[in-house]
Amino acid sequence: MFSDIVMRINEAKRILIIPHIMPDGDTIGSSIALKLALQKIGKTVCVHNIDPLPDDISFIGTEYIADATDFVASADLVIALDSSDKNRLSVPFEDICEFDIINIDHHRTNENYGLLNLVLPDASATGEIIYNLIVEMGIEMDAEIAENLYIAISTDTGRFLYSNTHPETMKIAAKLLETGIDIDNLNIQLYQNQPYDKVMFESEAMLSMKLYYKRKLSVVCLEKSLFEKYGLNHTASDGIVERARNIRGVDISFLLKEVDDSVKVSMRSKGDFDVSKIAGIFGGGGHKNAAGFVTIHPLSEISKRLIEEAGKQYGF
Ligand code: 5GP
Ligand code: MN
Repeated sequence: MFSDIVMRINEAKRILIIPHIMPDGDTIGSSIALKLALQKIGKTVCVHNIDPLPDDISFIGTEYIADATDFVASADLVIALDSSDKNRLSVPFEDICEFDIINIDHHRTNENYGLLNLVLPDASATGEIIYNLIVEMGIEMDAEIAENLYIAISTDTGRFLYSNTHPETMKIAAKLLETGIDIDNLNIQLYQNQPYDKVMFESEAMLSMKLYYKRKLSVVCLEKSLFEKYGLNHTASDGIVERARNIRGVDISFLLKEVDDSVKVSMRSKGDFDVSKIAGIFGGGGHKNAAGFVTIHPLSEISKRLIEEAGKQYGF
């Protein structure tokens, strides 16, 4: 599959890279790393994103990602990164369905919507696959590419903590560090640079957490009004679902938040508790320990259904 993709990329001149909506460090870091690498071999590349970036990666410059709507018509190849299904793409699928699409991802639930599908569920992050693709293409790794791949892998493994962290992940991380990236500064930017208002918002959100089934399930529900109170967008809740999961005795956590006219649900778990199964029931997907979905049902209704479903699925 790698060689088919390399061949197709070599033929292309103008490449559109599509991260997923509500982007995270993996989709953005992978997209920018691939853009920088492909530019080194003479390709014209745009990464499309118009969604707000989460705070941990808000330092990433707009010179790398922008509204690429005008670029779409003139592209001759589309590469989708870290997007498990068509609805997650940051460009409407009907705008790109005529193009050859290369779909590169690490979600087990990926729907293989591309012409070429490189879906490797054992990869810790899409960034890991992009690292291997860049090596396969014979493009020299430099510190700027390495920084973006580090952002992708570090954020998607919870700083090399989650069970998706394999020996291969560490070997790739070592290779990235060998390019001379300033790891101390990068980690400060990623993890020690939170806006004060976000931390206060987080405290209020945590105080609203409820526990169910002898404290095995934690649930945080965030109405739009709380985001408005602090003048923050929906990305302010990033990190809360992990904090709710990290409590002793808690096996599963849910975070539900109102975003525009929908409710976005994030789910996390420990060990063998598989939250991607519940996400699947509600039309979403993800990984065993991190999954999610979006619904148009009201927050109170969906939280009730989710709590019931967790009781059934896990025998709580
Ligand atoms: P998060 O809760 O951080 O948004 O997402 C956690 C995991 O669940 C990620 O791997 C992400 O791809 C997956 N995920 C989140 N929301 C959705 C969704 O609406 N649909 C699908 N298929 N996966 C999702
Ligand atoms: Mn990912």
